[in-house]
Amino acid sequence: MEQRNGRRLILLPLPLQGHMNPMLELANILYFKGFSITIIHTSFNSLNPSTHPHFTYHLISDNLSESEAVEKDLLLLISHLNRKCYEPFRECFASLVSDASKEPVACLISDPVFDFTQSVAESLKIPRIMLRTGSASFTAVISAFPLLQGKGYIPKLDSRLGEPVTEFSPLRVKDLPVINSSDPERFFKLVHNLTYQTKASYGFIFNTFEDLEQHALATLRKEFHIPIFPIGPFHKCVPATTSTSRFLSQDWSCISWLNTQAQKSVIYVSFGSIATLDEAQFLEIAWGLANSKQPFLWVVRPGSISGSDWLEPLPSGFHETLNGRGHIVKWAPQKEVLAHQSVGVFWTHSGWNSTLESICEGVPMICTPFFGDQMLNARYASDVWEVGLHLENGLERGEIERAIRSLMMEKKGDQMRDRLSKIKEKANICLRQGGSSYQSLNDLVDHILSLESLALIKHD
Ligand code: UDP
Repeated sequence: MEQRNGRRLILLPLPLQGHMNPMLELANILYFKGFSITIIHTSFNSLNPSTHPHFTYHLISDNLSESEAVEKDLLLLISHLNRKCYEPFRECFASLVSDASKEPVACLISDPVFDFTQSVAESLKIPRIMLRTGSASFTAVISAFPLLQGKGYIPKLDSRLGEPVTEFSPLRVKDLPVINSSDPERFFKLVHNLTYQTKASYGFIFNTFEDLEQHALATLRKEFHIPIFPIGPFHKCVPATTSTSRFLSQDWSCISWLNTQAQKSVIYVSFGSIATLDEAQFLEIAWGLANSKQPFLWVVRPGSISGSDWLEPLPSGFHETLNGRGHIVKWAPQKEVLAHQSVGVFWTHSGWNSTLESICEGVPMICTPFFGDQMLNARYASDVWEVGLHLENGLERGEIERAIRSLMMEKKGDQMRDRLSKIKEKANICLRQGGSSYQSLNDLVDHILSLESLALIKHD
């Protein structure tokens, strides 16, 4: 822990699990670097302050109606949050900035999906830095959306889905990030705002590292003339117990269950905090896992199968056919699971956090992306880093069984493990003294401490 430096940072995370985790990890990293941390959080998916008692918290009321708070259309939910959090955030932020009893605020670190933070920060003459919770490659691609739209890749036409996107090899049209919504324009508006806001901000922080995404980071440095700080993997920078906050409670029974399994024998299955399945897909997964005859640990989030509360669609007798080979939970301590010696393969939806966590533990992936950046992450895992097998033809039990067997029992899995052990080593090295993320974090701290004078020059 470094000496307190007399400066406060205000952080505004987006209240979704995959955005909240890296923001809290970043908060811990910067706390250990000497900053005081104040977190503004929303009543929707609010945080539990006792998990990080060394931070100060301010809860803002988002006033989401009951129906808005359970909105399944992700972009519509984000649009409600943006509309309803603007004013409460502005008031809260202004009062924190003017509070002379606390250390001066050095900057705001916000999730750029909150589209009002740049204008609020500017109006109060406080510099703003963005935390991008996705990969650098994803940011490079969405920054090029005008070009991709000009070339006719977007909106995606069925007839062009298999076509290579030559500007972003090895991506194909079908891998380009899109989130469906009742109003298709919402996604393009979000992407446009992200790019526009980037240009006005004082820097970008990424949960990635140079050796993993060198090319994309170089592209971003050329495109945006703001400092870029790849300081990840975040979760390896801070002690595990202080790193995350959860909206669902973790079921630790899976660790005791994993303790009874043979080394590298278990397939861990989780599709993150948002993706949903229909009943037919759920059953294909269940039978694919059962037929593979491999032990599996499966996270089935309540409500993630349309029309069901939890496991109701499983046929009676399913559990008996497994002979103790399967363990199903509602939410797992994923980082601990991936680090467990019994886990041999991670079947993932290819969210960025999950991808990075798997890479850092050297676990090969089966990739079933659902939406947004997941298709791009899956393509990188399979075709660039060659550490994942991309299930591209939908969910079918025979194909699932073959994929599991090929990674568990054939050379392909071992080859991926060899490649992963090299990447894992690079991830460890980059965090050590002299490593790229270590250096980038020191640069970020210096940058934040120099912002006061920069902000005065910019606003004068
Ligand atoms: N996670 C977890 N337990 C689970 C499933 C997921 O702790 O049972 C965590 C996982 O470690 C990751 C985050 O939830 O940090 C999911 O983020 P990701 O970007 O992978 O996907 P998203 O949920 O945003 O789709």
